[in-house]
Amino acid sequence: MNTIPHFIGGQRRTDGDSFGTVFDPATGREQAQVPFADEALLEETLTIARAAAAKWRLSTLSQRTNVLFTFRQLLTEHANDLAALITAEHGKTTPDALGELARGLENVEYACGLADHLKGEFSHQVADGVDVHSVHEPVGIVAAITPFNFPVMVPLWMTANALAAGNAVVLKPSERDPSGSVLLAELLQRAGLPDGVFNVIHGNADTVRRLLVHPQIDAVSFVGSTPVAKFVYETGTSAGKRVQALGGAKNHMLVLPDADLDVAADAAINAGYGSAGERCMAVSVVVAHEKIADELVARIAERTDRLTVGPGTDPQSDFGPLITREHRDRVASYVTNAPSHGATVVRDGTALVDREGFFVGPCLIDHVVPGTPAYDDEIFGPVLSVVRVSSYDDAVALINANPYGNGVAIFTRDGNAARLFSRDVTVGMIGVNVPIPVPVASYSFGGWKDSLFGHSHIYGPDGIAFYTRAKVVTTRWPQPSDSQIDLGFPRTR
Ligand code: NAD
Repeated sequence: MNTIPHFIGGQRRTDGDSFGTVFDPATGREQAQVPFADEALLEETLTIARAAAAKWRLSTLSQRTNVLFTFRQLLTEHANDLAALITAEHGKTTPDALGELARGLENVEYACGLADHLKGEFSHQVADGVDVHSVHEPVGIVAAITPFNFPVMVPLWMTANALAAGNAVVLKPSERDPSGSVLLAELLQRAGLPDGVFNVIHGNADTVRRLLVHPQIDAVSFVGSTPVAKFVYETGTSAGKRVQALGGAKNHMLVLPDADLDVAADAAINAGYGSAGERCMAVSVVVAHEKIADELVARIAERTDRLTVGPGTDPQSDFGPLITREHRDRVASYVTNAPSHGATVVRDGTALVDREGFFVGPCLIDHVVPGTPAYDDEIFGPVLSVVRVSSYDDAVALINANPYGNGVAIFTRDGNAARLFSRDVTVGMIGVNVPIPVPVASYSFGGWKDSLFGHSHIYGPDGIAFYTRAKVVTTRWPQPSDSQIDLGFPRTR
């Protein structure tokens, strides 16, 4: 079986104390093994990264910019290779994998502007003969710990800005689909990044625990599920590190009675079932005003009948399999158990569970209420729940009572309703007639409440701030009266 290597100090390595299995989710078969770094390998990696960081922090801004520009070019040239790896290990369709790469690429493009992002400030003559300037220095070594659902985009969210800021990076990708990270490392090396500045080590929860308390790690960027994000934040900050930890989600899409119901139904389909619902910004709850709920549910249901579920490599597939057999069974259980909690299963895609591979078809559950598993849990599969409300205020109260606060959308033709909604909801990213409001790379991405631990959002300006440490230099040069040396020109102006 193929062994997916670590990438440490510019070398592919396959040592480790144990191995994980990477499946092909479309067939359910094992396709590769991945070594888990043991303590000795982690020590070696961090020694290499520390030495590399000491030099990289002194690289010129134009050297870093050149690496990132070349990296961007290589990413576009290898887009199909990266997409193929994503599809093979994650299962998402090829267009979806290319879309993921495009959103990751944006972050590299943003980081290419590092000469501007890293500018400090200068104040002349704050006191007589005294000037002040600020600089943004790298933090040192960044541990980047990423989830399975965006195996290329999320590493790029972190890596592009961390490298631009002059840090070394140790990336620990998801052990379920780790190959994309290794190709990123090879492309960075080809782009001219010095060996040891970007390293990939594979591992599981034990590896993460070691990284979180290791004295050589200065900052931790984490994206994953809420319980792990909370653990990472608490453990990392207790060990004195700066930590940003993005967690799970339960994203609502409110449809008001004046909305264009066809537009809303199309949006619910794309945002609910795209990538098999395995997106942290997927819509999982449609909040339907009772005046239009029956009609909206009918339009969504009719559209689910036109979706094709199959391998990600099949151009006919609208979405592919789930990541593991266990996850597929867990997702299916929410649908099977929904009637016992008073909900109505309008479309049941769980029959596909008998198919080879980890497939669940589109599922639609109506009359879902808070306090039941289908509403309370992050299902992370192709399951849309519909909650009916009788007013705008009830909708906002429902959304704000939810412990997650990643993304939310409103569908309406009423600008004032949309404006009030943007102000009233306790959610980090809001879409107005936009179902998946992922900010472009020049803004920052982050949820509220249990969707983010720490104050820093990820990428964009917050990313630059997170990966840099501020220094303020107050300068006073000898004035004429202080100076002992005659430089041969009149000093008094
Ligand atoms: P996960 O939390 O299981 O794993 C994320 C990372 O943490 C992996 O690298 C994994 O090896 C490691 N890990 C797993 N269990 C651990 C433990 N007990 N201790 C320490 N480390 C551990 O998440 P996942 O299943 O890979 O990804 C899906 C989750 O990520 C969903 O909840 C999704 O909403 C979330 N997500 C959030 C965002 C966001 O921006 N907020 C983006 C993508 C995914």
